[in-house]
Amino acid sequence: MIIVLKNGHEDIIDEIKSRFTETNEVFVHNNRVAIQGVSEDDLNAEEKNAIDLIIDNVPAAVQGSRLFHPEDTVVVTPHSQIGGDNFTMMAGPCSVESAEHVMKMAKVAKSGGATILRGGAFKPRTSPYSFQGLGEDGLKFLRAAADAYDMDVLTEVMDQDHVAMVEQYTDIFQIGARNMQNFSLLKAVGKTQTPVMLKRGMSATIDDILNAAEYIAAGGNHNIIITERGIRTFDNKYTRNTLDVGAVPVLQKLTHYPVIVDPSHAAGHTEFVTPEALAGVAVGASGLVVEIHDDPAHAFSDGAQALKPDEYRAMAQQAFAIRKVITTPVEEKSEVKL
Ligand code: PEP
Ligand code: MN
Repeated sequence: MIIVLKNGHEDIIDEIKSRFTETNEVFVHNNRVAIQGVSEDDLNAEEKNAIDLIIDNVPAAVQGSRLFHPEDTVVVTPHSQIGGDNFTMMAGPCSVESAEHVMKMAKVAKSGGATILRGGAFKPRTSPYSFQGLGEDGLKFLRAAADAYDMDVLTEVMDQDHVAMVEQYTDIFQIGARNMQNFSLLKAVGKTQTPVMLKRGMSATIDDILNAAEYIAAGGNHNIIITERGIRTFDNKYTRNTLDVGAVPVLQKLTHYPVIVDPSHAAGHTEFVTPEALAGVAVGASGLVVEIHDDPAHAFSDGAQALKPDEYRAMAQQAFAIRKVITTPVEEKSEVKL
């Protein structure tokens, strides 16, 4: 149950907390109090009098719910604001390959308007014999490249034992699709205050990802970014996954966390990355995370889906233009120049 208090009755919050905290989970956001496992009958007359509205049928992922927290969450990093009215471009190679290469890719990422440099140093590969990433050296190269271009770092953490080490180098943890329900890892990043970009598992439902996000919030970390990166459907003959564009507005209705789109892992092939990226923007995503490479044929991982520098800049230009169109009030649209 979520109760919304009448203005000026916030003093009742402490009383409710002290009555229920021992036996129930109690969460407070402004004048809203969420109490798990309690109904209206359990409230006393004074509490009932302070209530403006009672919301039943609250999802288990209550802290992430718009019912509990109606305003958009804006995740703030040194060079970026993600969510709310902002649109954020994140780009970089799938893997950090060398100090020189990631530096070159940072320059490209920046040239398309990215404020966040992505790159994996710990790679979740389908085969144990594929390149597994440069580890901590890769993180150092990525940090140096991002710093050189005044960008933030986004990189995957795969193991709960690596959280403290990866945190030294990154501004945003990435939790990959394969680890979306690695609850020990979710709890570990939930104990930090470093933003977490949580990717939708390839067979995860909307409620699955919202509950995964709740594991992070339950630890006290509310700096969460949700990423739609394509799910497995019945046909992966021509694309790697199916970008669930419809999930974006659904998630935005259900949760206050920013929702972004990764067209690269959805499409799996360069030629489909730009159209899927633009579809993500058109449907209202708060940002994109895109893989780029100057020599995709020799990329250490995911070369088949990398945008070359010129392709990336063209995509980014169109993405920002579409964002402008969809955020311009209808009556002013005739004045928008593409
Ligand atoms: C990645 O971002 O390179 C990656 C491995 O993504 P995902 O977890 O979505 O497959
Ligand atoms: Mn990749």
